[in-house]
Amino acid sequence: MKTDVEIAQEAVMQPITEIAKHLEIPEDDLELYGKYKAKISLDYWNTLKNRPNGKLILVTAINPTPAGEGKTTTSIGLGDALHKLGKKTTIALREPSLGPCFGLKGGAAGGGYSQVVPMEDINLHFTGDFHAITTAHNLLAAVIDNHIQQGNALDLDVRRITWKRVLDLNDRALRNIICGLGGKAHGVPRETGFDITVASEMMAILCLTSDLEDMKKRLGNIIIGYTRSGRIVRAKELNVTGALTLLFKDAIKPNLVQTLEGTPALIHGGPFANIAHGCNSVMATKYALKMADYTVTEAGFGADLGAEKFLDIKCRFTGFKPNAVVIVATIRALKMHGGLAKTELGTENIEALKKGMTNLAKHIENIHKFGLPIVVAINAFPTDTENELQELKTLCESMGASVSISEAWAKGGEGAIDLAKKVIEAAEKPSDFHYMYDENDTIKNKINAIATKIYGADGVNYIPAVEKTIAELEAAGLDKMPICMAKTQYSLSDDQTKLGAPTGFRITVRELRISAGAGFIVALTGNVLTMPGLPKKPAAENMDIDINGKITGLF
Ligand code: ADP
Ligand code: MG
Repeated sequence: MKTDVEIAQEAVMQPITEIAKHLEIPEDDLELYGKYKAKISLDYWNTLKNRPNGKLILVTAINPTPAGEGKTTTSIGLGDALHKLGKKTTIALREPSLGPCFGLKGGAAGGGYSQVVPMEDINLHFTGDFHAITTAHNLLAAVIDNHIQQGNALDLDVRRITWKRVLDLNDRALRNIICGLGGKAHGVPRETGFDITVASEMMAILCLTSDLEDMKKRLGNIIIGYTRSGRIVRAKELNVTGALTLLFKDAIKPNLVQTLEGTPALIHGGPFANIAHGCNSVMATKYALKMADYTVTEAGFGADLGAEKFLDIKCRFTGFKPNAVVIVATIRALKMHGGLAKTELGTENIEALKKGMTNLAKHIENIHKFGLPIVVAINAFPTDTENELQELKTLCESMGASVSISEAWAKGGEGAIDLAKKVIEAAEKPSDFHYMYDENDTIKNKINAIATKIYGADGVNYIPAVEKTIAELEAAGLDKMPICMAKTQYSLSDDQTKLGAPTGFRITVRELRISAGAGFIVALTGNVLTMPGLPKKPAAENMDIDINGKITGLF
């Protein structure tokens, strides 16, 4: 079997101008980044805005293993299959972060014969959006430290600056730092740290904004810290909202690329789903819905994180409403949920599968709670047996979810035709979409609703510092926003070792961060980190480029 990068390098791409023609985007509204990538202009929205929306298909998954269960691969294969069936289709995905790319997970542009190309560009610097986000984030940080250095007119409490710095790499050594060392000319020393760019509030803002004016408002509303008397300070008080917005002048525009089979794909924005809200930009989704009859989009990690936040945050802010949800599952991962070790997944084991299927069953139940039709996509691996597949089908059908075996990874769109037909059918079904909580409810009630209804927890514990933050937020009137849960992706609980569908547990909220610009409150549970580290053997060690520029090892 060829590697992902080998398959991608053999692809004969169409010029991006040809792909744009499928969607009838005028050449004037394309901003070319070389031959195979383009941004779509902001002006083009004026042409699109009065068109009806096409159908929206959300792809999510069971709780994954570290390798990923194939959401991106399945989303791309499904998009290609819909395209093959003659449906005008667009795939809307996140931009990969360099952190996991060089770390454990490798690239994130799909896999096998279901990929978006040019995959090397998409996985590396692409059109520079992450550079813009990182720079905007760090400009604000630099302005804060300069403000303190120049006399601190706002009386900022240097012990309570909440705005950190970011970098799009996994670098645990930067989690906690002291900046401003070196004496009077070099700033005021204070303790701070770095998060990964994809966890930045700037990333969330880029992904939730609807235009440049809205962006400016959100950037100004960012809370950067407190004064010594305890007053909340916003970014706009530092007078750099305009400068921050202009750093996003191109990053805000959706990026157009293609799949291996020439289906248009908008790849734009990329917040992680375990520590941020986990879905591509509103800009890309709103363009896609107007341009295509079917938009396939992915929400990160499992349905407990990605889909919940897609539905409770992104849909709430925009009025988007998915017509169907695809839950991706692999037999291998379900057997892991059933207690098998990584090395035991290659042999048939119905008992373990049955035990592990409780994880899938819980996610099906959850999506039904949102009132949406479901198709389960079994991402096929050569080690799956007929008996195992049958067992899984029986479960899904008994729960009223249609089910399809996807061979998108091995065969591209051809391998997902049955899935596409079932998705078309499901998207015609009536649905009764509603959110999991009322955003005007109290912070605790909102977190409780997610924890009990979605995770299956008995309740939520709050450490004393969080109790204090809740009281502060309520007093400041900042509590009426949706909640962005930060939690491990591996378990429905906040303990990554609890697999399957655990019961009899409580989750612990150990920190609340307020993202007033993005418009949500982040609740950090367990020991989830906002700056990942590299593994013992980083994926970077296997990567190379030769004298002719040929890249290897990018998965
Ligand atoms: P996710 O989006 O859920 O994180 P991806 O689609 O990125 O998962 O897939 C993760 C990795 O698994 C990729 O490297 C991909 O090539 C590989 N993969 C996905 N599906 C299959 C499959 N059916 N067989 C073998 N490898 C697969
Ligand atoms: Mg993915």
